[in-house]
Amino acid sequence: MRLIDHVPPHISAIAPYQPGKPISELAREMGLEESAIVKLASNENPLGISPKARAAVAAAIDGLALYPDGNGYALKSALSHRLGVDMARIVLGNGSNDVLELAARVFLGPDASAVYSRHAFAVYPLATLACAALGIETPARDHGHDLDAMAAAIRPDTRLVFIANPNNPTGTLLRPDELLAFLERLPETVAVVLDEAYGEYLEPEQRAPSLDWLARFPNLIVTRTFSKAYGLAGLRVGYAIAHPEVADLLNRLRQPFNVNSLALAAAEAALDDADFIAASKRVNDAGLAQLTAGFRDLGLDYIPSHGNFVCVRVGEAARVYHELLRRGVIVRPVGNYGLPDYLRVSVGLEGQNQRLLAALGEILA
Ligand SMILES: *Cc1c(COP(=O)(O)O)cnc(C)c1O
Repeated sequence: MRLIDHVPPHISAIAPYQPGKPISELAREMGLEESAIVKLASNENPLGISPKARAAVAAAIDGLALYPDGNGYALKSALSHRLGVDMARIVLGNGSNDVLELAARVFLGPDASAVYSRHAFAVYPLATLACAALGIETPARDHGHDLDAMAAAIRPDTRLVFIANPNNPTGTLLRPDELLAFLERLPETVAVVLDEAYGEYLEPEQRAPSLDWLARFPNLIVTRTFSKAYGLAGLRVGYAIAHPEVADLLNRLRQPFNVNSLALAAAEAALDDADFIAASKRVNDAGLAQLTAGFRDLGLDYIPSHGNFVCVRVGEAARVYHELLRRGVIVRPVGNYGLPDYLRVSVGLEGQNQRLLAALGEILA
């Protein structure tokens, strides 16, 4: 027997997360200039980083010899004021990916199950399997979460439900009244992670008043991130808001210094930059309209999206993906999400979207 034959089966069964191809990698592979490559593959903010966050990072560099504040006091205090929630409810993560995993580790184990939807964010099954728990995938409705199917899938051993709203990669959105009805019918012994990574892109009336629900539902865990509309994906910072006792449990499992000093400083500054968030939403609204109009012109179906990305149906997605790479355009295949005919395109700046549409037109001609 080799060492790796002793690895627990729930670990060897984990399929690796497939990230978007980095610009530097494509440049190496194709002999292209990095500046000639357009990456619309990881739902990153095409506006880059907020000027306020940039200044905060520059100022924080002098402190890099010191460990970060392990409690993230300044950022939690800023979030507490901004969101109107007690600091004891906030858990900071190395990206919201970190808090998703913390939630799984708190509630799941070999005798537990978690429920998530088909076509939902890939980290939910990863986090579930890493805990040796059973993952229960429910069928999708119109490419999004079917909350009736999810409620019906709950078993006595179910401890966690993951909901992405909007969902990645499909961009589908649940209405606040649907979500509330789901929370109301769920047993209190099941935690619900409501992942709002793309919440900033919604219209105000589309947003669930999820933080108001926390007082009624001690089993609700809302997660958010600075990686998307806030433009800080490379720094890794996100957070959960939950019942103080749940937050305390997540914090116990957290690495003592899970969020680095530059990320803490940048996130605190970014939180203050309402202009940047407004600009991010404007650019996204315009880009999404541009992309979907372009898809319609090309006769392509797409899944209407509420995020900063859209899934377009191209048929032979693997071939089209590689043809796009040859033209210096990186998008994301979503066969691993059960969508083998689709590519997910992140919304870029006008010129980047145009590059993608022109390349698609060429390939599909
Ligand atoms: C991008 C994304 C996240 C968060 O990513 P982090 O960078 O780890 O904060 C969480 N959930 C969904 C659905 C996402 O698409």
